[in-house]
Amino acid sequence: MRKIGIYPGSFDPVTLGHQDIMRRAFSVADVLIVAVAENSSKTPLFSVEERKDMLRAEAELLRRSGALRGNAEIRVESFQGLLVDFAEANGAGFVIRGLRAVSDFEYEMQMAGVNARLDPALSTVFLAASECHQFIASRFVKEAARMGGSVGDMVSPHVAEALAARFGPPLHDRKKP
Ligand code: ADP
Repeated sequence: MRKIGIYPGSFDPVTLGHQDIMRRAFSVADVLIVAVAENSSKTPLFSVEERKDMLRAEAELLRRSGALRGNAEIRVESFQGLLVDFAEANGAGFVIRGLRAVSDFEYEMQMAGVNARLDPALSTVFLAASECHQFIASRFVKEAARMGGSVGDMVSPHVAEALAARFGPPLHDRKKP
């Protein structure tokens, strides 16, 4: 039987940190459902559809890089309501979450605990962020792009383009008058 895992998040926008977790999730999953949470309390920069489009493009990059072997499959979805309900409806046995430094730990453990109370059959699998991606967060990427910083080291080129379309190109890329 294929092992189905769900990687939920805001992905506003998807970063190289997310991409790395998606890639390594295939060490435990055969099918990975990357799921944009629609009812997050955060006010997003990108719409759900835009975030899904960016995730699909990211999945395509992973496919082309050879990260998906054999019958491995990646799906991009969005969901409202409880993650445990979405997981059950999709036959997923576990949730994938990425863990950066200590700051993620408390929140992630609490969320895993709540989900385990709601559905004891659903496990949370934590994948440690790679050292080079420890400090990448969607929030900082948006902040940097908004202020004219170059974000090419933190996101894929298509995401950098989407950010440039919102905020204008990075300052050092702009042509001098
Ligand atoms: P959420 O709003 O649910 O925190 P995010 O899109 O910020 O959604 O993150 C989704 C998941 O990806 C979380 O488990 C988060 O810890 C993880 N994550 C985010 N950035 C990174 C990164 N740079 N490296 C590893 N995991 C990350």
